Amino acid sequence: MSRVYNFSAGPATLPEAVLQRAQQEMLDWQGSGMSTMEMSHRGKEFVSIAEQATNDLRDLLNVPENYKILFMQGGATGQFAGIPMNLLRGKTQADYFNTGQWSKKAIKEAKNYCEVNLVADSSDNNFTTIADSSEWKFNPEAAYVHYTPNETINGLEFDQIPDTGDVPLIADMSSTILSRPIDVSKFGMIYAGAQKNIGPAGVTVVIVRDDLIGQAADICPTVLDYKALDDADSMPNTPPTYTWYLAGLVFQWLKDEIGGLDKMAEINKRKAGKLYAAIDGSDFYANPVDPKYRSWMNIPFTLANTDLDKPFLAAAKEAGLATLAGHRSVGGMRASIYNAMPEAGVDALIAFMQDFEQRNA
Ligand SMILES: *Cc1c(COP(=O)(O)O)cnc(C)c1O
Repeated sequence: MSRVYNFSAGPATLPEAVLQRAQQEMLDWQGSGMSTMEMSHRGKEFVSIAEQATNDLRDLLNVPENYKILFMQGGATGQFAGIPMNLLRGKTQADYFNTGQWSKKAIKEAKNYCEVNLVADSSDNNFTTIADSSEWKFNPEAAYVHYTPNETINGLEFDQIPDTGDVPLIADMSSTILSRPIDVSKFGMIYAGAQKNIGPAGVTVVIVRDDLIGQAADICPTVLDYKALDDADSMPNTPPTYTWYLAGLVFQWLKDEIGGLDKMAEINKRKAGKLYAAIDGSDFYANPVDPKYRSWMNIPFTLANTDLDKPFLAAAKEAGLATLAGHRSVGGMRASIYNAMPEAGVDALIAFMQDFEQRNA
């Protein structure tokens, strides 16, 4: 059976070269006589894999020395609780942007630990645009400001990094990390579940400024305590070793095959640009998001005639274009075109959409 173009929002498609390398190394990793899955996480082989992955990620994102890189468990959702427990540091209030389904979940979890002030709220426009920065309402008492640069379900993306002065800015980058270069020094903390742009599900990357850790609440479990993770090189207990290894292969692919994040950004911008142009150029398809805030990674679209939704998905599947159904809360279609989606996959989708329109308009 041949591989399809998989537009899943997450877990998402992985670079074929990475899967092939994992396959080659499956039974015998570099002469060790065992799979990376079977190694002790304390042994020198796995420790070298973990260190290489951490160093490659630091390199790719140009992470300054005073930031810790942690590999954690519990997903981005675990961090929704981990962030207030670690970063309130004695304060009782935090600022949150509400710009989509993932913001909403982060806010709901944070309310278990602190008072939440909304800096901006896109719920009244169905998460299709973001208030102008002149209207943002920051609370000077906030311990931190949390936002979701790219809302995976709504396809809504910030066009700037909010300026929060001395208040640490926290970003849920689950669906946008590594899609382009970022200035890490503008953030107090960045975090991302792996299953969109990093690797398979099971690991959560946390990049946190070192002066912010070490003041976790007493109730914070060890596995969510950034200081405890850092002290143990992300191994206070058994880490998800195979996911960590595969994340490392993805980082090497980004460095060696793609040529770094500037190159990745060029490709991503081009992929998204041509798909939006195809949608906007037709009355048959539509994207509801304010063009200023359209995501590079997740592109929802609707058919003018919703009776054609099911036939569209069926014909797409037949054509080798998989997992295009929109999120159940939004409906329609969604094409997730993360780093690992080749440009040829986007070209194939556009050609299919144009052909489907001709046959059904
Ligand atoms: C997928 C996603 C999450 C949830 O990640 P889990 O690892 O399943 O907890 C959170 N935030 C964003 C922006 C996401 O895309």
